[in-house]
Amino acid sequence: MSLFDFTKYTCQKTFESKIYSEGNYCSFCQKEFKNNAGLNKHIGRMHNSNKDVECPTCNRLFRSRYALKFHRKQVHEKSTRVPCPVCKKYFYNKYVLANHLAKHSNP
Ligand SMILES: [Zn+2]
Ligand SMILES: [Zn+2]
Ligand SMILES: [Zn+2]
Repeated sequence: MSLFDFTKYTCQKTFESKIYSEGNYCSFCQKEFKNNAGLNKHIGRMHNSNKDVECPTCNRLFRSRYALKFHRKQVHEKSTRVPCPVCKKYFYNKYVLANHLAKHSNP
């Protein structure tokens, strides 16, 4: 790999990771973390409770009240959904939409 190729690769990588979640997003609340260690710490502190809480609407079980709150916002509150500007489909959040938008730009 030449130095030029390496620079190009790094730029693309940085660009992509800004648009797509590269694994450092909390699966409970979509908070972004610089690294996996920070993410794990956050999940352990914020979302790791042995007490399951149930969604009164769909009876799904969640590990924390916070996760349930986030689920309700995502699934049961339509107002928080984001529309695709291209095909007008609605998505749960902007990260899902970003993934979807990539399909429009790369057919
Ligand atoms: Zn979280
Ligand atoms: Zn639910
Ligand atoms: Zn679309």
